[in-house]
Amino acid sequence: MRIHRLAPLALILVTPATATAGTRLPLTVRVYDMSADPTDRTRSFAAVARVLAPANVELQWLSGPLATRETPAPQDLVVRLVRQDTVATRPGQMALGYAVVDAAGRRGTVATIFLERVEWLARISGADVEELTGLAIAHEISHLLLGSPTHTARGLMRARWTTDEIRAGHPADWQLGRRERDQLRAGLAARLGTRRTPESPRVAALSVRAQAEPTLR
Ligand SMILES: [Zn+2]
Repeated sequence: MRIHRLAPLALILVTPATATAGTRLPLTVRVYDMSADPTDRTRSFAAVARVLAPANVELQWLSGPLATRETPAPQDLVVRLVRQDTVATRPGQMALGYAVVDAAGRRGTVATIFLERVEWLARISGADVEELTGLAIAHEISHLLLGSPTHTARGLMRARWTTDEIRAGHPADWQLGRRERDQLRAGLAARLGTRRTPESPRVAALSVRAQAEPTLR
């Protein structure tokens, strides 16, 4: 794991989306980092922004004291970064995180990422841990915005991430499909109290071998 000694106590990072689909939708994500790690999460947040950019979502990250200074607004998302001692006792298939979704209301607010599990997966697959953390956050945030706990066979929202897939690094494995992007935009628009028409460019999905190990919920 890469640790930055001079990590900022608080971070506001606004990442403009680059896509042209529809009106840019703002999304504030409050990061409750319960790990006490001095890690600068900027690159993880950038990975999330890259995933959501084709949906034309403009992310604002609140971390450190800024994240907890105020009660979250109803439209805000909360990402908890936690560290537990689960890798040594539960090798093999593990959930990297989870999102609490009200399936009836098709809405969720809080997602949790298990940092030690992401670090374990990054280690055994030779991946960049900050990048992988960002992808895990993007997966769980997407559950919250889609208002659904379901998974897809391909792309970022598949349930299992294998070491082979991570090593291969096919872009389509780590992107939202067009349908998910449209649904995500619709979910975010509803969350913001607006009724904007979702639209996004088409992206081809690659077929990947579903095999192993860590699981996202
Ligand atoms: Zn999931």
